[in-house]
Amino acid sequence: MVHITKQQANRSPAEWGFDLDAVLASQRKAFDGAPYPDWATRKTQLQTLSALIERYADDFKAAISDDFGNRSFTETTLAEIMVIKGGISHAIKHTPKWMRHRKAPTALQFLPASNRIVPQPRGVVGIISPWNYPLQLAIMPLIGALGAGNRAMIKTSEYTPKFSALLKTVLSEGFSDDQVFVATGGVDVASAFSNLAFDHLIFTGSTNVGRIVAQAAAKNLTPVTLELGGKSPTIIDPSADMDKAVARITNGKLINAGQTCVAPDYVLMPRDTIDSFSDAMIKKAEEFYPTFAGNPDYTSIIADSHYARLQDLLEDAENKGARIRTAGHDDKQQLAKERRVPLTIVTQTTPDMKIMQEEIFGPLLPIVGSESLDHALDYIRDRDRPLALYWFGDDKAKESRVLHESISGGVSLNETAWHVVQEDIPFGGVGPSGMGAYHGEDGFRSFSHYKGVFKQSRFSQGHKLFPPYGPKTEKMLA
Ligand code: NAD
Repeated sequence: MVHITKQQANRSPAEWGFDLDAVLASQRKAFDGAPYPDWATRKTQLQTLSALIERYADDFKAAISDDFGNRSFTETTLAEIMVIKGGISHAIKHTPKWMRHRKAPTALQFLPASNRIVPQPRGVVGIISPWNYPLQLAIMPLIGALGAGNRAMIKTSEYTPKFSALLKTVLSEGFSDDQVFVATGGVDVASAFSNLAFDHLIFTGSTNVGRIVAQAAAKNLTPVTLELGGKSPTIIDPSADMDKAVARITNGKLINAGQTCVAPDYVLMPRDTIDSFSDAMIKKAEEFYPTFAGNPDYTSIIADSHYARLQDLLEDAENKGARIRTAGHDDKQQLAKERRVPLTIVTQTTPDMKIMQEEIFGPLLPIVGSESLDHALDYIRDRDRPLALYWFGDDKAKESRVLHESISGGVSLNETAWHVVQEDIPFGGVGPSGMGAYHGEDGFRSFSHYKGVFKQSRFSQGHKLFPPYGPKTEKMLA
């Protein structure tokens, strides 16, 4: 087991090695002393962050891999380091524009007064991150928070202790504790952290814990951005290019061994193509990963408890009549020893199976027979609004229906997952998959207060609005 031990999780605050209230107080004091960092200051901070990530990239890859058992170094480069680099360079290029005061129209009766909108840092931002992409999901919110001129406190996951310790050391090399602080530890720390009176709190994690965090934040009236999970559906239309669909769905499902918030959770497709699609998926998975055990490209399941959870989902489905096909020819004991789960296709599914009810978060892909777009859209609308939705097809009219008649956090068309790394579109969930958004300008907006400012003109005839009211006032209000 890689996650924190029970003894550690039950430590008293005196044993944490830090005082969360004191850190928050010091950050707020420092913020009050410099409440509007200029662009030069923010740019230096973003460049410092970039340099630190670059300098310690190999250490992060090793620490994350140790925490997982094995995490492909290439996947850490692709899905964490490259995403962060893209986020920082996009923020450096565009933040000066986002920081600008924006002129806003003024209603006729108030002219020649003027209106503008002034984006202002919120103050101290709390960031709670999960284990699955531990670096990306701690740093991407930090980019938005620093770009918007805030200070930040980060709580990382107890499932990635080596990564968390490294992040703390690395960030303290470039930032003082009153600028950026990393709190490591278990659920005890996370719980105390979510009860702090931040000026904004962004939580990335499961829907269940998201509810707890939102309740804690509500007591302080702290605004929250919740980046949660859920079951992201994939619809395959008969008009789809099947070879491309198979390759892209296999890739989206198997990166990080399916432990991805936007992984395609299940597929909806016509019954008569399920068998050929399943065969092609298995073949593609074996082409991508000639072995699953011992393969440095293939990521392990994070912990024994999650490994057991995935086995339980399969057992439950099998007991309820599902058909299960597993890719590869690895020795089962070796797979279990390395906590590796090959791509597993589950067909003949029914809604009562746990695999059709819970977020899978692993390389299991159930398929649901669906003969029409109407059926697929009804199936999706009958369930929680997902974080992502994927549609494969070449029929423009149907594509338009999918976009307008389903609600999800985001969408990739003829692709899986890549909408997440586009810095020019928002990333966030909806309903049980989250609230609010970040990345690019949406991150800047989430971590800024947009202050409405009305400026009276020295040429104003405002006295017409003063009492005693008379015809002049009536004329102005008419
Ligand atoms: P989790 O909810 O178990 O934990 C996330 C964080 O919350 C951790 O730092 C943990 O310490 C903290 N936490 C745990 N209990 C807490 C409590 N009682 N109060 C306050 N904080 C608490 O999630 P996880 O297992 O780390 O991550 C997997 C989940 O996250 C999946 O549901 C996945 O879909 C979701 N996720 C969402 C996104 C997204 O961007 N929307 C990205 C990655 C993961």
